[in-house]
Amino acid sequence: MKEIRDRYERVIDYMRISIIDRCNLRCIYCMPEGGIKPLDHSAILRYEEIIRIVRIAAELGVKKIRLTGGEPLIRRNLPYLISSIANICGIEDISLTTNGLRLKNLAAALAEAGLKRVNVSLDSLHPDRYREITRGGELQVVMDGIAAAEQAGLHPIKINMVPIRGVNDDEIEDFAKLTLKGPAHVRFIEFMPIGNTEFWNEGKYLSSEEIKDRVELMAPLIPVKVRRNGPARYFRFDGAPGVIGFISPLTHHFCSSCNRLRLTSDGKLRPCLFSETEIDLKSALRSGAPDREIERLLRLAVEIKPDSHAISQEKSFRHLKPMSKIGG
Ligand code: SAM
Ligand code: SF4
Repeated sequence: MKEIRDRYERVIDYMRISIIDRCNLRCIYCMPEGGIKPLDHSAILRYEEIIRIVRIAAELGVKKIRLTGGEPLIRRNLPYLISSIANICGIEDISLTTNGLRLKNLAAALAEAGLKRVNVSLDSLHPDRYREITRGGELQVVMDGIAAAEQAGLHPIKINMVPIRGVNDDEIEDFAKLTLKGPAHVRFIEFMPIGNTEFWNEGKYLSSEEIKDRVELMAPLIPVKVRRNGPARYFRFDGAPGVIGFISPLTHHFCSSCNRLRLTSDGKLRPCLFSETEIDLKSALRSGAPDREIERLLRLAVEIKPDSHAISQEKSFRHLKPMSKIGG
């Protein structure tokens, strides 16, 4: 079986691809109110280019693909991209991260095309607050989307929540309670100083430990092993059908088990979310580079993957590219 390892013996088998930098929401922590200047359509990788990169990456040992953005569901003809990737030899798993607004109409077609699972980002269970955080989103539309994804068999649905102090941290318990009702994975993600950095400050940040302490006040948490758990640490309440995950990019470095490369919407390979080092695949593709050159660049990205990041020690984050461009 093919396998590619980096200098630190990590097996790199996962690629996260941002297929679009645009979004139909403007979450307060992710984008400035006026949005970000969108890339020119011509600057964004075409489907055929993405498919070619995935084919070559799969030949090296990449097995799992996650599509993200921006909002991936606003890119046209997405089932075509999914089925093309699903048909690539060596690709075992395709998933997607979405705000869920377009899931209701698309879930069945995406599942049929070969999508396995979805992660839905949801930061409030109160309609008014959801509208405020997302600057205009309708909670019920997302809930309908989640129901459609369940019906389409995109299990388990993972709900990603970013607790922000003074904004939605009083809902941590309500989100945890969702795991008592059904088999969802509710995952709390530490608020990171990336995206709309004007909005970020240390006071708004809660560590995973603090979030977990609050959940544990409700009832004891039992550690559980979850297949394909990625960087999350999982627990459940006794007898609950769902599980609760904690993703701690800042406090609990998961760098030592990081298995991923990122491909930005404008065709740059990014070995680490928190490093500005990028390898320009798009220029190579568009200047007629043969497969072996694309393979060389993919290998280079794996080779220069840093041991770990030091984001929590940095003083300024303004230099970081927006999350919607990199692909969250
Ligand atoms: N639009 C899709 C969505 O919202 O799921 C995909 C892209 S979005 C950038 C991916 C994830 O990044 C979302 O779950 C969002 O909550 C998360 N994210 C964005 N900015 C973040 C930040 N500053 N800290 C933590 N998570 C962030
Ligand atoms: Fe859009 Fe996702 Fe960013 Fe919200 S978090 S603005 S939905 S890209």
